[in-house]
Amino acid sequence: MTDTTTMTHAPLLIFAGPVECLERECEEYATEDGHDDPGVERCSHIRVEEVCAGCSTQTDDGEFVAVVAWPCRTADAGGAK
Ligand SMILES: [Zn+2]
Ligand SMILES: [Zn+2]
Repeated sequence: MTDTTTMTHAPLLIFAGPVECLERECEEYATEDGHDDPGVERCSHIRVEEVCAGCSTQTDDGEFVAVVAWPCRTADAGGAK
């Protein structure tokens, strides 16, 4: 029987920043003539954070309400290599 209450402690990348930046609406995504620039993957306002998927809490909307940086204490203690 599988214990589904045990969270997997693993690194997870999340993107944090202003909504307009996450939605590609900030000026850094636009070319000089105002079009969306497909060459810009992420603007400089967005932070990429590595967090523990097991320790961090995410709402049903996909919003992180509490994050624990990777590696977390559990992983540090030998739970993951
Ligand atoms: Zn931006
Ligand atoms: Zn963890």
